Amino acid sequence: MVGDSLGQNSGHLIVILGAGHAGGRAAEALRTAGFAGKVMLVGSETHPPYERPPLSKELLAGTCAVEKTYLKPLEFWATAGIDLHLGSPALEIDRAAQRLRLTDGVALPYDSLLLTLGARARHLTIPGGTGRRVYYLRDIDDCLKLRGVLGAGKRLIVIGAGFIGPSPPSIAAAASICAPASPSLRSQRAATGPWSRWGRARRWPPTQFSSASAPCRTASWR
Ligand SMILES: Cc1cc2nc3c(=O)[nH]c(=O)nc-3n(C[C@H](O)[C@H](O)[C@H](O)COP(=O)(O)OP(=O)(O)OC[C@H]3O[C@@H](n4cnc5c(N)ncnc54)[C@H](O)[C@@H]3O)c2cc1C
Repeated sequence: MVGDSLGQNSGHLIVILGAGHAGGRAAEALRTAGFAGKVMLVGSETHPPYERPPLSKELLAGTCAVEKTYLKPLEFWATAGIDLHLGSPALEIDRAAQRLRLTDGVALPYDSLLLTLGARARHLTIPGGTGRRVYYLRDIDDCLKLRGVLGAGKRLIVIGAGFIGPSPPSIAAAASICAPASPSLRSQRAATGPWSRWGRARRWPPTQFSSASAPCRTASWR
């Protein structure tokens, strides 16, 4: 994407829409590749680019701080000359005018536009699928909201038996908050509960997976 002429052109403005993992790494890669133009990262979330795996593990368990999920320390972006425009979803792309319109009223011109919009959690349309005591887990704010209502003795049902929901680290993170106060009962459940049997049968978690107690940034999801 960054040909020689583009790389030398310091007047060229690349706007990256979607300040998630892909967007953040793309911005970083542009600089690493020597792109001399302007780079702007635009995202609907208020957080700088971050990694989502800890959201169902360490951050949910409360064993790491929000900032530890960030792809880069906050100061990196300014140092690398990457402008962040956060907390404002895009409303419209005017391709003829090469302009992006955001919900906060800002209109951003661009020379090249990169879309790294990722995915979103599918909301259940069944009766009761939203509302009181129903939580979705996709972003940091979702995670903190969920963490805020979990507590000793609380019961949590996870709907969504894909990769994220039923993984033992995710269950362990939730269980570490909901477990009864007695540590012996907690460890007994961890050793004999259904998820431990499930994990043993499948040799799960794989060795490269992070455990709920590992520091966010040493995890192995990369
Ligand atoms: C709870 C959880 C746990 C996970 N655990 C693992 C794991 O252990 N291992 C693993 O490999 N993967 C895991 N994943 C998946 C992994 O996080 C995703 O594959 C990754 O986030 C994809 O990155 P992305 O940048 O493509 O998209 P996203 O992370 O979705 O980023 C896209 C960004 O674009 C923004 N955006 C969307 N529309 C607009 C708009 N109109 N205007 C402005 N901004 C917009 C979004 O708000 C978002 O911030 C997990 C995901 C979740 C939710």
